[in-house]
Amino acid sequence: MATINENFLKLKAGYLFPEISRRVRAFSAENTGKKIISLGIGDATQPLVPAIVEAMKKAVADMADKVTFRGYGPEQGYDFLIEAVIKNDFNPSGIDLNRSEVFISDGAKCDTGNIQEIFGLNNIIAVTDPVYPVYVDTNVMAGRTGQADKNGHYGKIVYMPCTAENNFTPDIPAQKVDIIYLCFPNNPTGGVVTKEVLKKWVDFARSNKAVILFDAAYEAFITDPAIPHSIYEIDGAKEVAIEFRSFSKTAGFTGVRCAFTVVPEQLQAWTQDGGAVKVNSLWNRRQCTKFNGASYISQAGAAAVYTAEGKKQCRQIIDIYMANAAVIRESLTKLGYDVYGGVNAPYVWMKTPAGLSSWDFFDRLLQKANVVGTPGSGFGPAGEGYFRLTAFAKPDDVKEAMQRFAAVR
Ligand SMILES: *Cc1c(COP(=O)(O)O)cnc(C)c1O
Repeated sequence: MATINENFLKLKAGYLFPEISRRVRAFSAENTGKKIISLGIGDATQPLVPAIVEAMKKAVADMADKVTFRGYGPEQGYDFLIEAVIKNDFNPSGIDLNRSEVFISDGAKCDTGNIQEIFGLNNIIAVTDPVYPVYVDTNVMAGRTGQADKNGHYGKIVYMPCTAENNFTPDIPAQKVDIIYLCFPNNPTGGVVTKEVLKKWVDFARSNKAVILFDAAYEAFITDPAIPHSIYEIDGAKEVAIEFRSFSKTAGFTGVRCAFTVVPEQLQAWTQDGGAVKVNSLWNRRQCTKFNGASYISQAGAAAVYTAEGKKQCRQIIDIYMANAAVIRESLTKLGYDVYGGVNAPYVWMKTPAGLSSWDFFDRLLQKANVVGTPGSGFGPAGEGYFRLTAFAKPDDVKEAMQRFAAVR
């Protein structure tokens, strides 16, 4: 008899985006011809820039020629990309990395989801609330969390609420935790942390032998020069932190697939009896066993992000998204809403008006303005009463959506 991994039965149904689609479909069926504008899903909408397209075309040509054809690449990624990453993303802020510390992959979703495999099942996990669901669900599948309560909180996870009251900055937990997931700039709140705050986390992890899993997928959207782009800008972070980055939002790679994870050689975790083990070696072993490398064509495209042309062109795309964010912020502020984020992140997080629940506001916005956003409660109970709007839309659609917003209250 084949039995299943019953931890999967503890997962709460993937409810948020299917439920949004269901409600949008129902509305469209009753209101044919009405143009619905989506500021809902966090997916790139601008096409790949020419520098990337040219590099990928050349890579395809390489694959079409028996002299330059490539089969399996290194599981850790090609040196040409690893070197470009270190030189452009880390060295300028004074961070030195060895090539062995950068692992190229096909996505930060997979990496943030897979990383928990190399840690013991008895670790206490800490996550923010609201949170990117991947961190929680992969720990549920592994059996680290226990059952969910009626709020959707799992018994063995430590939740760190992030609300307007604490400026969307998680407090250091009072109880012992071993593995801490942090995402800054944050999806969904658009919040960021200063170096001082990040230093507190690094110090906490160092004194508790904990590990920080730092998701920096949105670092390219930071506009304030005082905000750190990498956790390794903090002294001592290499001893306690893994950092995840992605080309998805930075270069429009959501459909191309390329990302990377930094696992410093200095980072250690521990056996039950206190022996130190290099986490880098475990991740390398895990990747070599279960992953055969990201596509050569994707990696060639990603390397073009770091050319002079690529940098300039990708920056223009990010500027388009961030101009959208500014339009959303300013329009909603003028309309009297409480608005957060959208300055160093492509997400605007707003309080729902008049104490409406996140879903009630979703329905009202869909009905009255034909605009779709994401209910904050879908990211965790502390997101109730909030609503997420993304800046990943066409500028004209954003402007029109904001005009329609005026009709909502
Ligand atoms: C979009 C996103 C990613 C990137 O995922 P990919 O698999 O690289 O496309 C990672 N983390 C967060 C929080 C995200 O929103």
